[in-house]
Amino acid sequence: QPVVAVVGRPNVGKSTLVNRIIGRRQAVVEDVPGVTRDRVPYDAQWNGRRFTVVDTGGWEPDARDRAAAIAAQAEIAVQTADVVVFVVDATIGATDMDEKAVRMLRRSAKPVILVANKADNQAVELEATSLWSLGLGEPHPISALHGRGSGDLLDAILAAMPPAPPIIEGGPRGPRRVALVGRPNVGKSSLLNRVAREERAVVDSVAGTTVDPVDSLVEMDGEIWQFVDTAGLRKRVNQASGTEYYASLRTAGAVEAAEVAVVLLDAAEVISEQDQRVLTQVVEAGRALVIAFNKWDLVDADRRFYLDKEIDRELKRIPWAIRVNISAKTGRAVDKLAPALRRALASWEKRIPTGALNQWLTALTQATPHPVRGGRAPRVLFATQAGVAPPRFVLFTTGPFDAGYQRFVERKLREEFGFEGSPVEVSVRPRK
Ligand code: GDP
Repeated sequence: QPVVAVVGRPNVGKSTLVNRIIGRRQAVVEDVPGVTRDRVPYDAQWNGRRFTVVDTGGWEPDARDRAAAIAAQAEIAVQTADVVVFVVDATIGATDMDEKAVRMLRRSAKPVILVANKADNQAVELEATSLWSLGLGEPHPISALHGRGSGDLLDAILAAMPPAPPIIEGGPRGPRRVALVGRPNVGKSSLLNRVAREERAVVDSVAGTTVDPVDSLVEMDGEIWQFVDTAGLRKRVNQASGTEYYASLRTAGAVEAAEVAVVLLDAAEVISEQDQRVLTQVVEAGRALVIAFNKWDLVDADRRFYLDKEIDRELKRIPWAIRVNISAKTGRAVDKLAPALRRALASWEKRIPTGALNQWLTALTQATPHPVRGGRAPRVLFATQAGVAPPRFVLFTTGPFDAGYQRFVERKLREEFGFEGSPVEVSVRPRK
């Protein structure tokens, strides 16, 4: 979601404005020693559009040269934000300090919204027109304290944002789309036939949805699921005749069309390279993942022992995958499939509130900071969840992160918030 940074010198009313934007009642007083409100991102919403507001209030608090500090603060904002809200005190007008930041803002390509705050009455509002001279376009006179002009300002902020991705919400979503994949003879057709028979309801159409003829609709656990690209499985074509290349193309197509993939592995046989390739296809496509160990009826205590070792060794890159041990032949634990799919999809679509995310991350990076490199340790400025399906997180930092530390953050993120069954993407955006 887009990031809006609120920039300006101390006491122009940035915090009050942020409170106004996020609709919070109590105002945080500016410049209270010990009140860390620097770099704190908040979730906001206006006219149905969600975005993140960053209060840059206390950035670079120890800098001696205040003008330089404000410029530095604006620079960070410009690098990390989609829209910059630059706040000026309308009762004072533009100061030298403001102008230094303005020069920097004008050089940047980012949209800047100029706010003339403390325009509590019409006289000050008129005064604000002189701010056209800053060259940042139309000044928006507002009173953050009383709310005057804040609706118009929010409209302007929204208009300056990159266009919203189309929202698919609203109306019935249709059945969840599942890819049933795995190398030939692991039991894909058998499993599809099993769930279709067990639950009897192989329906051909669901009201309000169009289903590709190559797909199968199957009811499991009271819900209809769409198994994508199963034509080959239904017709029981001789899959051994197809080359592996075509098999992998078909797998890729099915995975692409699905939200969640069930990767079937043959529990009676070693996890092969071909199995690994199928797993990689799912992970790289960013789909939710359930691993079904099929042919569990063939697993005895001996095999179990070796299988556990194999899992440790071969699946250690995806410890988060949800696993079920089933038998398409006997029907063992096939009823566990639907709950596993639901859990994986819930993780896949999970959204962590920005406040909770940053609180946790601050505590984590304080307890275990990034290792010092070249005399400095890069720090996290703030983090935001950029998207879902799969969950994607962006860390805005003071410098690049070691791959090891980035993996550490991802692992801890999973421990804290639980993304069982879903890949998670963590990327680091260092400021220059
Ligand atoms: P596909 O190529 O992945 O679609 O695999 P099939 O469903 O055609 O199954 C391949 C072979 O494995 C067939 O002979 C099935 O009867 C057998 N099979 C499938 N599932 C099981 C199972 O759970 N247990 C056992 N013992 N055999 C199975």
